Amino acid sequence: MKVLVAVKRVIDYNVKVRVKADQSDVDLANVKMALNPFCEIAVEEAVRLKEKGIANEVVVVSIGPKAVQEQLRTALALGADRAIHVETDEMPDSLAVAKLLQAVVAKEEPQLVILGKQAIDSDNNQTGQMLGALTGMPQGTFASKVSVEDGTVSVTREVDGGLQTVQLQLPAIVTTDLRLNEPRYASLPNIMKAKKKPLDVTTPAELGVTVARTVKVVKVEAPAERSAGVKVADVAELVDKLKNEAKVL
Ligand code: AMP
Repeated sequence: MKVLVAVKRVIDYNVKVRVKADQSDVDLANVKMALNPFCEIAVEEAVRLKEKGIANEVVVVSIGPKAVQEQLRTALALGADRAIHVETDEMPDSLAVAKLLQAVVAKEEPQLVILGKQAIDSDNNQTGQMLGALTGMPQGTFASKVSVEDGTVSVTREVDGGLQTVQLQLPAIVTTDLRLNEPRYASLPNIMKAKKKPLDVTTPAELGVTVARTVKVVKVEAPAERSAGVKVADVAELVDKLKNEAKVL
């Protein structure tokens, strides 16, 4: 079984995000970038399927400028076998990413495609679902447990009301939630080995897809500063403030 994992380069989750002075976007200058945490979980799950002997090849794909090769190398160090870089300097929106992934799926014919449930930069949470709609493949989103057996994948999903298990015919799409697994750290020898693993570069034109954006960012604003809290002397004062100032009682 071949597993395709889509990985995105995003701002490292430890970085305090700044907005550009002209409010056109988030400022990425000199900012530490990393593999999207949900994509790390996706790579880990695929590598575990390989270690269990269920998958025989793990292919990672990323779309973006040349710099995304850094994250592809990280994924290779975590255990993926080979990488595909779809090179574009445009930052494609989710629909364009899904169309590009659809073209990669058509070429690679994986039995399982694993994506993160969302990329922590824009928190869109839509690429996996769009890929499902475009390819007609069944999808199991927000996975907290995945098991593959006899041509099907059983996905336990984290939904508002609790857990839901769906059984999908392969080939299928899975998007990862936080509790699916705890990704490993790449060891130094594996980081060295990853440098020699195959990384193919292609372009949207070669895949026959236009990446023109259909979504326009109008303005980016930092969230409002939280005002300082107030210390009250006793419950009576608290109730009084809730009643007369906050007017919530
Ligand atoms: P989103 O819908 O943007 O929140 O992203 C959900 C998932 O789609 C990510 O966790 C990735 O698995 C995949 N994805 C989004 N953008 C890209 C990209 N530029 N390259 C590769 N995979 C991506």
